[in-house]
Amino acid sequence: MPITVDQLARFVELFAERLAAEKENLTRLDSAIGDADHGINMDRGFQAVLGKLPEISSDSAGGLFKGVGMTLVSTVGGASGPLYGTFFLRAGGALGDTTDVTAEQLAAALRAGLEGVIQRGKAELDDKTMVDALSPAVDAFDRSLDGSLPNALAAAASAAAAGRDRVTPLVARKGRASYLGERSAGHQDPGATSTTIMIEALRDALQPGA
Ligand code: ADP
Ligand code: MG
Repeated sequence: MPITVDQLARFVELFAERLAAEKENLTRLDSAIGDADHGINMDRGFQAVLGKLPEISSDSAGGLFKGVGMTLVSTVGGASGPLYGTFFLRAGGALGDTTDVTAEQLAAALRAGLEGVIQRGKAELDDKTMVDALSPAVDAFDRSLDGSLPNALAAAASAAAAGRDRVTPLVARKGRASYLGERSAGHQDPGATSTTIMIEALRDALQPGA
């Protein structure tokens, strides 16, 4: 069964709902190793996305994700706006004007999004950023593609959460948290946390019957 544009729009909506619910938690995480705005940034961007969803979600999978990306780039400051914006712009570029997305096309889109984030932010694994959740999630999704889509998405979400937790003890080497040096160790990364929420929203929105 191909994935429809409506299902992808539901994913975007679910991510926005969960970011709103987790706004304070994300900001609390960012207050420990950043400037206490990650929840505010993400919620601002995705509230703007929700407002525009009716006009951007109609045509194609690529059109939807590019609309999300452009909205994020134009409404969110900080590191996360351009990074999440790039993720959705690149993923949208990979999806193009298709309306029925196969699991393989979704995998290629997620991969393109990850590569965009890495190109833009220059983060490597273990720098303690959103890449540490996104990269293992994309890898796990690829590895599980020969099974069912729900199973592959569940594997991706588990890998994202494991990546988020794996880098908590590490010292941050990118972004504001890196200014703290050793003091950043032992704190959960806000961006890796929001990325895990994103992959969980994708998993849940694409469940059969969701
Ligand atoms: P800012 O740091 O500008 O205040 P946010 O607080 O919204 O922006 O986002 C912080 C998150 O952005 C971090 O927790 C980290 O996961 C992510 N991040 C920061 N710099 C980079 C980078 N160069 N590459 C990937 N992710 C990054
Ligand atoms: Mg911040």
